Amino acid sequence: MIRVSLATLVTIYLLLFLAAVFLFWIVEEWNRRRRERRALQHRLRCVICAFEFEDRTDALLPRCPHCGSLNERFKMEQI
Ligand SMILES: [Zn+2]
Repeated sequence: MIRVSLATLVTIYLLLFLAAVFLFWIVEEWNRRRRERRALQHRLRCVICAFEFEDRTDALLPRCPHCGSLNERFKMEQI
């Protein structure tokens, strides 16, 4: 049997607990960013009138429903 002192045991438990919390946090952050990216995937902002709209078609140049100008697909920045 391996002999370890109580202090070592507590330290090991503490480190394991911290590692688990850190891992959980990383996974949650990764999931949150993925959700955010997916939510913004079809969002577009018109370059002429700055109107934000959603376009789920495959059109290369989606038309702004507000002013009718054609827009390129830019990646939406985070809000
Ligand atoms: Zn517009």
